[in-house]
Order: sequence, then structure tokens, then C-alpha cells
Amino acid sequence: MHTKQSESLYNEACEHIVGGVNSPSRSFKGVGGGTPIFMEKGEGAYFYDVDGNSYIDFLGAYGPIITGHAHPHITQAITKAAENGTLYGTPTVLENQFAKMLKSAIPSLEKVRFVNSGTEAVMTTVRVARAYTGRNKIVKFAGCYHGHSDLVLVAAGSGPATLGSPDSAGVTANIAEEVITIPFNDAEALKEVLDKWGDEIAAVLVEPIVGNFGIVDPAPGFLEKVNEITHQAGALVIYDEVITAFRFTYGGAQNLLNVTPDMTAMGKIIGGGLPIGAYGGRVDIMENVAPLGPAYQAGTMSGNPASISAGIACLEVLQQEGTYEKLESLGAQLEDGLNQLIQDYSIPATVNRRCGALTLFFTNQKVTNYEEADNSNDELFQQFFHKMLQQGINLAPSKYEAWFLTIAHTDEDIQKTLRAADQTFKEMSENL
Ligand code: PMP
Repeated sequence: MHTKQSESLYNEACEHIVGGVNSPSRSFKGVGGGTPIFMEKGEGAYFYDVDGNSYIDFLGAYGPIITGHAHPHITQAITKAAENGTLYGTPTVLENQFAKMLKSAIPSLEKVRFVNSGTEAVMTTVRVARAYTGRNKIVKFAGCYHGHSDLVLVAAGSGPATLGSPDSAGVTANIAEEVITIPFNDAEALKEVLDKWGDEIAAVLVEPIVGNFGIVDPAPGFLEKVNEITHQAGALVIYDEVITAFRFTYGGAQNLLNVTPDMTAMGKIIGGGLPIGAYGGRVDIMENVAPLGPAYQAGTMSGNPASISAGIACLEVLQQEGTYEKLESLGAQLEDGLNQLIQDYSIPATVNRRCGALTLFFTNQKVTNYEEADNSNDELFQQFFHKMLQQGINLAPSKYEAWFLTIAHTDEDIQKTLRAADQTFKEMSENL
């Protein structure tokens, strides 16, 4: 396989676009370097690049693509929206329709507001939680990504009950001091923090099923405990369901796990591949948002007809019978196949999976929190990533990311992928 066109386009991109990419996760820095592939067309489960190579895609655009690329129902909805004018700046019937759809899928969303990205959705839930509680601090879990607003770009302090430090240049120490970061699945650490700062904490922000240091489930009872002790402290529970909403079931991870947050942030899948975010929750909390209340949030592009139409169309596709059963079946085949190969070639690796999303960690240890995910071997992941790409399997260039399946993948695609993994593990095992 040659990638000459991608190489020359990447060189050109580097002259004009910072780092050659419009989101750092697209660079190959985390996989020992190399040229990001310039894709030209996506169709179903496949990508076609500028050099004429094809790939089975497991990136899923980092989560939004669950119906496969260019699903005709979504494409038609976007075309129709474009023909009717792409942006009005007035309310539309579509927004009502979509708000009702989301509310009936996720009952904790008593009121919603559409925004344009997951970053905006999470950022605003925190602002609203602060407005509602009159408190400033938030608690988050190590390794969970919540977008790139200042507040959530904060790393853990040196112990569980210490204040955070900035995780990005440009985030001030003052902001970091409002954020406490503790290990996921550690209810004891949360208790310690709430005991120490309970009356200063506005909210606990959590991905109910983690998607950002790989797919990691909450331990049994963990989310229930989060709700219980957070509410005892008078703080709110915010679920970041930007990855998880409609990924594992028609609704949120909260439906699947039978737990209820006070507020939820969403994005990705609900835009059907166009930019979107949404947040919502209890009506008494949401009524703090302008124009009803003092917490300001606005957006020129918010609720635009193209994004909303794509979102409605995407959910309509997902409502069809058998969607999540198919994702489960494909996911199980992939997981079982990878596990068999791991065993056959004695690869130090483990698979975490929920429905059609999985992560292959290069560690023998079970992964339940960020520290364990971080132990996943960089060198082995790099080898795996590049060898799979060479065989036409497109994965995210990061050891922490999930593989996302779509309803467009077939059993044959999974078998092809497993044949590539077989060859890859075989070559890797020769150098172990
Ligand atoms: N929250 C989570 C859980 C995410 O995974 C992401 C994006 N990866 C975000 C928030 C931010 O979303 P966006 O990139 O749309 O701003």
C-alpha cells in the first residue's frame, strides 16, 4: 500500500494548518509518528483514501458515526434541510420534534437546550450547576475527557483529596483550583473529597460508562453511590453522555444502567454526523438558563436545521428493530476473535467491550480506571496500529480510544479485520 498523495497533502497541511490537523487526536504523534491518511470518501463501514486505498473504518469519527458513513436516510434529511435554508436564527418545528424525541428516549431530560458541540454542552452544565447551587467547585474523574473548555482541562493533584493543576497551557491556576480529580470507580475517594469540600462542590461530572481512556464500565453500585453521596452533600450529578448517548442502547447509558443524573450533556451520535451538542435535566435546574434564569448560554448556530434534521434522521435509523442487537453481535464476534488471537500468540493484551464499542489494551491487567489504562504498552499499540493500517483497518491513533462499530459493518468485515489482526499479532509475537 502506498500513501504518497496523503504524504504530500499532509506536508501541505502542515504549512497552513497548525500541526497539519484540525484536532490533535488526528495526528499520529501518539503512535510514534507517520502521516495521517487523507480520506476522500466514506461509505457504509468503508473509507477510501486519496491514494486509492480502502479501509474498514473503526474510528467512527470518534463516536458519532453509528449508522455507517453517508447513510441514505441521513443524507436525504441533510439535503432537504439545505434546500430549505441552512440557518434561520428563529425557532423551527424541527427543534420541537427533536427535543421531544430526546426526552422520550432519556426521561431525565425534563428540559433540553441544543448547542453545537460536546464541549459546549458539558461547559454549560457546569455553569448551570454553579448557578443552581451557588457553589464553585466540581469533581471529575481522572482520564475522562469532557471537551476543551478551561474548566475540564485540569489534571489530578498529587493525592485523591487535592485540588487540580492545569492540564493545558493557558488554563489558569485559579481555574484549576476549582476542580478536583479523583480515580474512576473509587467511591471512597469521592467520599473523602465530599467530606472535605462538600459545601463548596456544585457538581460531580462523570462519564457513566467511560469512553475516553478506553471503554470502561462502572463497578457495580459505583454510580448509585455517586448519586447518593453527592446528593447528601447538596451537589448535582452531571453525566457526560457525549460518547455514550445512543451508543449502547436507544437512549443513554443511564437507561441501560438504571441510574438517573440531575443533568446530562450529549453530542456526537445525536447530530448524525453534523456538529451538535445538547444538555438537559431536571426542570428546576434547567430553568436557571437564560432567558428564564440568570445562567447565560446562547449560540448563533444552535439548533440549526441541518444538524437537527441529521440528528432526527439518525435516531430514526437507530429506532429500527435489531439495531443494538446487531451492534452487540458484531462486537461480540470481534471481542471473541481478538481474545482467541491474544491467547494463540500469547500477546499481553485485554479487551474491554460494551455492545458495539471496544478497546484493546496492551496489558495483562484488567482495566477499570485510568491508571490501569495508562499502563497499556505504547510500543505494542504503535506496532499494532501501523500494521493494521497497512492492511486496511482504520483505527484511532491512540491507545486509549475505542473501536466503534456501525450497523453498516458486516460479519465478513469482522472476519477480514480478524485476519488482519492474526497477521499483525503473528508478526508482533516474533519480536516479543
Ligand atoms: N465529552 C466527552 C465524553 C467526549 O468524548 C467528547 C469528545 N471526544 C467531548 C465531551 C467533547 O465533545 P466535542 O469534541 O464535540 O466538543
